[in-house]
Amino acid sequence: MMKVTDIMARRMAFSFELFPPKTDAGMEKLIGPGGVLDQLCTMRPDYISCTYGAGGGNVGKNLEVLDAIKQKTIGVTHFTCIGNTREGIRDQLQTYLDHGVDHILALRGDLPFGWTGTGGDLRYATELVKFIRDTFGDKFTIAVAGSPEGHIQCRSLEADISFLKQKQDEGADFIMTQLCWDMDQFRYWLDAIRAAGVTMPVDVGIMPVLDAAATINMALSRNGCVMPRPLCEIISKHWIFPNPFAPGESEESIAAKKAAFKEAGLEYTIRLIDEYRVCGIQGIHLYALNKYEDVARLVAESGIKDL
Ligand code: FAD
Repeated sequence: MMKVTDIMARRMAFSFELFPPKTDAGMEKLIGPGGVLDQLCTMRPDYISCTYGAGGGNVGKNLEVLDAIKQKTIGVTHFTCIGNTREGIRDQLQTYLDHGVDHILALRGDLPFGWTGTGGDLRYATELVKFIRDTFGDKFTIAVAGSPEGHIQCRSLEADISFLKQKQDEGADFIMTQLCWDMDQFRYWLDAIRAAGVTMPVDVGIMPVLDAAATINMALSRNGCVMPRPLCEIISKHWIFPNPFAPGESEESIAAKKAAFKEAGLEYTIRLIDEYRVCGIQGIHLYALNKYEDVARLVAESGIKDL
């Protein structure tokens, strides 16, 4: 059975990330015949990952999506400690293995508003990695999250990198990064983790810049990401939010701005991919956002993969 880490040892890997739709119609569109998954797989990704809802929600659909992915390529499930007991984790992970899913992104999970801990038996991703290795030996290839700007709750970037090293020491195999547009910070972080003895391959998570609201939401609703000046310029030039200087703007005008934003965002994302590729990374992981057309354009125009 091929492992993602075997691919990364040979060349740069290329993958997509999906999320489990909430409705049956959404599932049909994603994994039904000729759906988005089938279309994405024409680009021959090395693997596709599927997110895992915090608090245990959407878990059933996560497995259905992974079953479909498994028919086409390596499936990587995300998994969190939120609300999960040790026994519950053991059962769920055994179910993944029974379904042939043997790659896992081991996460703590975002704490729901007002919570002070995970509400489960394990508190950190470090503990989850150890638990998976202790319980299942080498059956899983384990990915872990890395935050080039530091996790929003970390004591310091140094503390965060120390815990990343600890994840490796507990048996993690590769890193999937949080989105980061600040390339100076990324290069600093990459040097710093290598100096700290983190040798795991780095798979860079890239969220395509397609929509202004989604971009701002991803950057600021949880992660406190820096938005560099060129990205802010794109948002400013195509501003679509309530604007006191343009009251009563027509729907056509807003639609035209959204389309122009997407064009500029695609170009920005392609340049970002170029910058990442020369940093000595081992993979590009595109958040496909359950879409095909825009993602396909990005892959074709950036040249990540010869299609
Ligand atoms: P940890 O590594 O546990 O870190 C959390 C905080 O605790 C950090 O500040 C860290 O510095 C500190 N810390 C870590 N270990 C220790 C320790 N042993 N002792 C003390 N402090 C420690 N969330 C979902 O709910 N579902 C998903 O599908 C999902 N997919 C994601 C995919 C990617 C690629 C990434 C980067 C994130 C994803 N997330 C997802 C979000 C993730 O769950 C959050 O970022 C979460 O807040 C932290 O998870 P973590 O695994 O990085 O936590």
